[in-house]
Amino acid sequence: MQKGNISVQTENIFPIIKKFLYSDQEIFLRELVSNAVDATSKLKAMALKGDFKGELGDLTIDILLDKEAKTLTIRDQGIGMSEEEVMKYLNQVAFSSASDFLEKYKDDVNIIGHFGLGFYSAFMVADKVEVQTRSCNPDKNAVTWICAGNPEYEIGESAKENRGTDIILHIGEDSTEFLEEARIEALLNKYCKFLPFPVRFGTKKDYVSEGSGEDTKEVEVDNIINEVAPAWRKLPADLTDEDYKAFYNELYRFSPAPLFWIHLNIDFPFNLTGILYFPKLQNGLEAQRNKIQLYSNQVYVTDDVKEIVPEFLMLLHGVIDSPDIPLNVSRSYLQSDSNVRKITGYITKKVADRLHELYKKEKESFESKWQDLGVFVKYGMLSDEKFYEKAIKFALLEDVNGNFTPVEAYKEKVKDAQTDKHGKVVFLYTNQPKDHDSFIKAATQRGYDVLKFDTVIDNHFLQHLEQKLKDITFVRVDSDTVDNLVQKDDVAESVLSEKDQDKVKGYFEKVVSEKQGTSVQLKPLSPDDDPVVITRPEFMRRMKEMQALQGGGMDFPDSLQVVVNTNHPLVSGKLLRAKSDERRTEIAEYLYNLALLNQQMLRGPELTSFIQNSLEMLSK
Ligand code: ADP
Repeated sequence: MQKGNISVQTENIFPIIKKFLYSDQEIFLRELVSNAVDATSKLKAMALKGDFKGELGDLTIDILLDKEAKTLTIRDQGIGMSEEEVMKYLNQVAFSSASDFLEKYKDDVNIIGHFGLGFYSAFMVADKVEVQTRSCNPDKNAVTWICAGNPEYEIGESAKENRGTDIILHIGEDSTEFLEEARIEALLNKYCKFLPFPVRFGTKKDYVSEGSGEDTKEVEVDNIINEVAPAWRKLPADLTDEDYKAFYNELYRFSPAPLFWIHLNIDFPFNLTGILYFPKLQNGLEAQRNKIQLYSNQVYVTDDVKEIVPEFLMLLHGVIDSPDIPLNVSRSYLQSDSNVRKITGYITKKVADRLHELYKKEKESFESKWQDLGVFVKYGMLSDEKFYEKAIKFALLEDVNGNFTPVEAYKEKVKDAQTDKHGKVVFLYTNQPKDHDSFIKAATQRGYDVLKFDTVIDNHFLQHLEQKLKDITFVRVDSDTVDNLVQKDDVAESVLSEKDQDKVKGYFEKVVSEKQGTSVQLKPLSPDDDPVVITRPEFMRRMKEMQALQGGGMDFPDSLQVVVNTNHPLVSGKLLRAKSDERRTEIAEYLYNLALLNQQMLRGPELTSFIQNSLEMLSK
């Protein structure tokens, strides 16, 4: 054996490697297996070009655990290294790239997990690293290289007979977790699940049927960790719906089947493949457990894809694979990287196009999925201008009868009946279809259409549409009386004389007076409309909502309008004709309470006494 010194200018790098990489120690396995994959792909490429003339044979990569010897070995049958190559690649290239990296990033601990530190990451877990390697060039001898975590190394001949490289890690005292089979298997499953060459971790039990009967026999078979040709690397034409679903299931076990998916496949101006799934949202926008996974040439990198995937698509699931995403740079750099921005833009465009296509080709299925899909689309329209422009063509509005219409078409549909005196098309909506039932009925009777805007995101979405479209305005169905919902100038006549109107107003004001922010108004509505209607003016309600959203401050009073329908027979007839003042007040109070009940505003003792009064009245 010959000894040497790894050229280190400054202090010993090994303690630094250990210290700074501590939080993400486990990536050593990803790095070493990736190197094994690289060495194997290189050999395959050489064979294709005719530069390697031998037998390729089995290219399986082995992970061997020896608890007694306290070693973990990564064995490949790739190109291997000659002595000169070991000197060059391990002593110089690998070492200098590791020390460069640490020099540059030692203050930025966060990004270390995203960087391929390469070969020297082995020293995070090993006291001593031993390399046994035989080059694919038959003229070269096998080599041993040993380094015990200090700048000294030994190099010499090796007895290794087969082509390829063994990286033998002598696991250190404080890293014995990496001698546990379960830990290694879990790591392999995390980082190596889709590597392009088989990765074997010992054997496992399997059961095969014996003869013709139902008897099964237990056998030991290779424990192959990975699937070498994952779905996203295949052509969409070669995959069935079942394949896509099966792959989803493989990524996220026990999750309900996805709604649909988008297969990404691009090679210019950057390289990117992947499959994005639209999941079924189980509880609205609840924080999702399944995340998009980022791969680089089938090597798992991270499931933190913030910089690469537009925020509104973070709710999607699936896989993105791109060797062009720079993984070894800091986060702020990633955000400003033009390649990364292009990738983000491309993903957005692709998702929008696919949704549009789906809407055009499979309208019914698109509508049936809108409940889940709508959340993505609306969120996207709110946060991404480019996406908005595309999505406005297929973003659907659902009315209370379950009809779906794209925004522009909807405008056309209601324009004639629902244009107000300012020329704006009024989109009537409810965010509580059940609570607003009587308002919805009244509006529908007038020939108006009422939209359902009842998801978490809808409030923002409608304000955004108002801003963008300019000539529409949203009005909640309980914000005014029906005749006023679509403010027009034509005013109906009251059947009451002015004097009678004053009287009526007086009785109601007496009943209502205590309530702050409430005013009484008389209106000659249709005799078929309710005698008393309580409304919440749109503008005031929105101010209040906005304030609540911004966390309060002073409390806006709930501004309510009590509208008395002077044309209703109970008002124009029964109330005015009642015998005593007391009786007239009683009727006014009863009608007012009914209106409160209709707005879910009669509660507690008031509700109890209302019920009590009603029962007494019935028994009279
Ligand atoms: P990187 O892989 O990023 O180039 P590494 O530090 O991981 O950096 O490795 C340095 C070099 O050592 C590699 O480029 C390769 O030439 C050589 N090398 C590492 N592992 C192997 C291996 N298993 N088989 C053949 N060569 C290897």
